[in-house]
Amino acid sequence: MKNFKQYYPTTVDEAAKILKENPNDTYICAGGTDIIGVMKDFILPTYPTALVSLDRIPGLKEIKEEGGFLTIGAMVPLEDIATNDLIKSKYACLAEAAARTASPHLRESGTIGGNLCQMTRCWYFRHNNDQFHCLRKGGDTCYALTGDARFHSIFGLTKMCAAVNPSDTAPAMVVLDAKVVTNKREFGIEELWGFAVPGSTKLEHDEIITCFKIPAFSGKSCFYKAAIRKTIDFPIVNGACAITASGDVKICVNAVALSPHRCKEAEAVVKGQTITESLAEKAGDEAAKKATVIEGTGTTNEYKIQMMKGIIKKVVLGCK
Ligand SMILES: Cc1cc2nc3c(=O)[nH]c(=O)nc-3n(C[C@H](O)[C@H](O)[C@H](O)COP(=O)(O)OP(=O)(O)OC[C@H]3O[C@@H](n4cnc5c(N)ncnc54)[C@H](O)[C@@H]3O)c2cc1C
Repeated sequence: MKNFKQYYPTTVDEAAKILKENPNDTYICAGGTDIIGVMKDFILPTYPTALVSLDRIPGLKEIKEEGGFLTIGAMVPLEDIATNDLIKSKYACLAEAAARTASPHLRESGTIGGNLCQMTRCWYFRHNNDQFHCLRKGGDTCYALTGDARFHSIFGLTKMCAAVNPSDTAPAMVVLDAKVVTNKREFGIEELWGFAVPGSTKLEHDEIITCFKIPAFSGKSCFYKAAIRKTIDFPIVNGACAITASGDVKICVNAVALSPHRCKEAEAVVKGQTITESLAEKAGDEAAKKATVIEGTGTTNEYKIQMMKGIIKKVVLGCK
């Protein structure tokens, strides 16, 4: 690694000020399990000069129920979410998603904020020494569209970038209708992600997520993940479904597009119906209708469509 500066502010305002005064090549560091790897492998075109750690800012590691919301601080480690009794009982899909992320060690260090803001795992983007100067690094080519396409997008292809969002907790947060609270504003979680160079979020450079607010939830929810290995592996496709006590249905899959993909067609199939195996299958079929395939050099991502259908079936049945 190259030398870099590490700041340890003790308030969110101080952290934001440092970021504002250093607009180029300064990054927020939460648990560091993603950003340090990015630096170690010289992935970015310009080497980060400084990290702003959020670790010493009080109040960002709390989980509490308050005013009709479950509030989860941005610096809460994933392991705390996976093992929290309240989350396990009332917001099951989120606990399940956190428990299926990475490894015990990484879940102790990795935070919910970092998990939702992590950079893409596209193997062209992640190639060391910026060997593939792709769209997400300010270049003009998406190598995934013509190269090895196996793990890439089946929806959207926004700006022709085929990289997927790799977060495991993202679909759970979407179906639970989480709100993102930053030092500047509050907004619905689906607005968090999008095409960004080099990140995965639409946050401003000096914008820091302080917590997530999930409306009190009573109903059933379920998360499922398909990966090559059972532990320490990113999703090929994952997904979550939440059905409220009043019958509202939300279904979201991830690792299929640049941002987590809400399956509104599948939701419409399930809403108001008794959940059966054939209904759950139909929901998956509906979601797949708008999917597209990338045929790369000798490779295809077509299998991901079938996998997504299976995941939707599983998470819908999990809410029975
Ligand atoms: C071997 C390995 C396996 C992994 N497996 C998985 C997996 O199975 N599933 C999965 O989802 N992830 C996986 N990850 C990815 C990721 O490292 C973890 O999920 C972790 O949660 C990231 O959190 P962090 O706190 O360490 O993030 P950091 O590395 O500290 O930050 C990640 C990014 O988010 C930004 N950021 C962090 N906090 C904030 C905030 N509060 N406000 C604004 N921006 C912020 C940072 O600037 C940085 O760009 C894996 C990582 C490794 C190294």
